[in-house]
Amino acid sequence: MANLWTRCNNCQKILYKQDILDNQHVCPSCRFHFRVSSLERLAFLYDEGGYERFDEDILPVDALQFVDHRPYAERLEENQRKTQLPEAVISSIGKIGGLDVIICAMDFSFMGGSMGSVVGEKVTRAIERATAGKLPLIIISCSGGARMQEGALSLMQMAKTSAALARHDEARLPFISVLTDPTTGGTTASYSMLGDLNIAEPNALVGFAGPRVIEQTIREKLPKGFQRAEFLLAHGLLDDVVERKALRGYLIRVLRLLLNRQP
Ligand SMILES: [Zn+2]
Repeated sequence: MANLWTRCNNCQKILYKQDILDNQHVCPSCRFHFRVSSLERLAFLYDEGGYERFDEDILPVDALQFVDHRPYAERLEENQRKTQLPEAVISSIGKIGGLDVIICAMDFSFMGGSMGSVVGEKVTRAIERATAGKLPLIIISCSGGARMQEGALSLMQMAKTSAALARHDEARLPFISVLTDPTTGGTTASYSMLGDLNIAEPNALVGFAGPRVIEQTIREKLPKGFQRAEFLLAHGLLDDVVERKALRGYLIRVLRLLLNRQP
């Protein structure tokens, strides 16, 4: 019976687990947004939760034969087994509010949602598919940044995804970037911040380097709420902060507006 109940780490209230699940993993008491998987994200957004996944057969390789505490190849295998996902992003196509759309959803549970060659390649292909099909694009970021086990190969993904987004933009197609907790490093420094609209979930950590590194570099104490979604909105780095439950309706409204369709 014990696992029917859980404590919210934010407000410390004991809550019925099902109430949180029914609330799209948002605390019904304090509205704290818990992290959700890429598959749950997609189910929340698409019409009747229906969509098709693509580029599932592009799998990561250990090109550098990288070993830290453990070989990278071993880590990849373990993460694939643990998450049942091929990589840290899912590319998908379906309808939202009756509009055809391509959505990429990153998954933090796969190596911290880090962006390696395959994440970059899948995101790029999804953007190119959107451009070719004249479709709007949504990327939901949840990432610790570039994947260090692939070194410079990971960093190259920043340029590749950004170039593909520039072509999508030249085709006058909308791209909405949704930043969730956390979105940091190379992801923030590339596609996550290149949306026609960049919107975040409440309290999401969004930044490039972590606060400790910044404090040590500029030798100043950082203000309260630094790098949180509301702080970034107030300082003009984001276009909006949207609660998870309102996100689907928000995206449909914005897409209709940008595509010049009837409301
Ligand atoms: Zn709470």
